[in-house]
Amino acid sequence: MQPISYARPASLASAIATLAEAGPGTRVLAGGTTLYDLMKLDVERPERIVDINGLEELAAIDTSGDELIFGALARMSDVSADARLTSAFPALSEALWKAASQQLRNMASLGGNLLQRTRCAYFRHGEPFACNKRTPGSGCAAIEGLNRGHALFGGSDACIATYPGDFAVALVAFDAQIDIAGPDGERSIPFAELHRQPGDDPSNDTTLLPGEIIVRIRVPADPVGRASTYHKIRDRESFAFAVVSAAAAIRLEAGVVTDARLALGGVATVPWRAREAEQSLISKALTPETARAAGELAFADAVTRQHNAFKVELGANVVRDALLIASGRA
Ligand SMILES: Cc1cc2nc3c(=O)[nH]c(=O)nc-3n(C[C@H](O)[C@H](O)[C@H](O)COP(=O)(O)OP(=O)(O)OC[C@H]3O[C@@H](n4cnc5c(N)ncnc54)[C@H](O)[C@@H]3O)c2cc1C
Ligand code: SF4
Repeated sequence: MQPISYARPASLASAIATLAEAGPGTRVLAGGTTLYDLMKLDVERPERIVDINGLEELAAIDTSGDELIFGALARMSDVSADARLTSAFPALSEALWKAASQQLRNMASLGGNLLQRTRCAYFRHGEPFACNKRTPGSGCAAIEGLNRGHALFGGSDACIATYPGDFAVALVAFDAQIDIAGPDGERSIPFAELHRQPGDDPSNDTTLLPGEIIVRIRVPADPVGRASTYHKIRDRESFAFAVVSAAAAIRLEAGVVTDARLALGGVATVPWRAREAEQSLISKALTPETARAAGELAFADAVTRQHNAFKVELGANVVRDALLIASGRA
């Protein structure tokens, strides 16, 4: 049995101080739906847990202004049901309510959702399988093994694990910002810079520095959000991660596209923005043909493996359908 110490600070300043004192074996606890899962699998073995559920300032949701503001501790179920979100940014709301189950969404926080780790089976099960993310330097069993769920974009010779979350895919489409607090104060970064591609160090999923926590997420209240959707294809219709997903948003003026947003899930090592495909739609009418062409462009540079090549054709269709659903709301 491994002893674990537990702290429940009552303020952000005290949480940061507690984290600064603690060593690398410390983990932040929010809803616990990923952390405890990984502890049971022996992937995570924290020596110290810092429970942030006492930090009420991190639970606030404010969607009334020019920015939508979500505290990192806001629960997935509360945010997905927010009235302004469902009308002004359906893609963000859908990305949340199509994730996990109602019970999990009631527990799980936005911050924890963004920081969940890959569902790669070799990572979760460990020995006897090689996994550079779990045991740096051991190799990657997925590259020559079962890789149906693995990434087409952003992989390396060291790791091709898919980033599994849904909400992050929608956030990356809408130029969200993340506010972070740590021993050196607060800083803000574009959401697209939070996750890192594996390169030669797959063990580190994000650009967070030691002792830092996510405080809030901010999304510019851009009108493009209104005609948007999060389209998610999974092996069963609920309680399953994305095989392929797309967050899409469209702005139409006089019948042509003036703004397009497109991000892909289930196919990349990080939430993946498909900027070339977005640009290909500008000044065109949104038809099944132009939408499908954007989908083909989004997957043109895919690097496929033995079992995941089917995602290229599926992905082009998911993008087409997402764009058509979004434009139907314009
Ligand atoms: C069966 C199952 C199905 C699921 N299906 C889906 C799905 O379809 N789509 C999907 O998107 N997700 C899915 N999930 C994942 C689920 O959404 C996450 O487990 C959940 O969102 C994590 O949030 P949490 O608050 O419980 O995080 P925790 O478990 O508390 O934390 C997760 C990680 O984030 C860190 N952390 C938490 N908050 C902060 C913070 N503010 N700052 C810094 N670090 C922090 C923790 O230290 C930990 O490493 C599923 C999970 C399960 C168990
Ligand atoms: S894909 Fe990444 S997480 Fe999966 S076995 Fe390879 S190194 Fe590990």
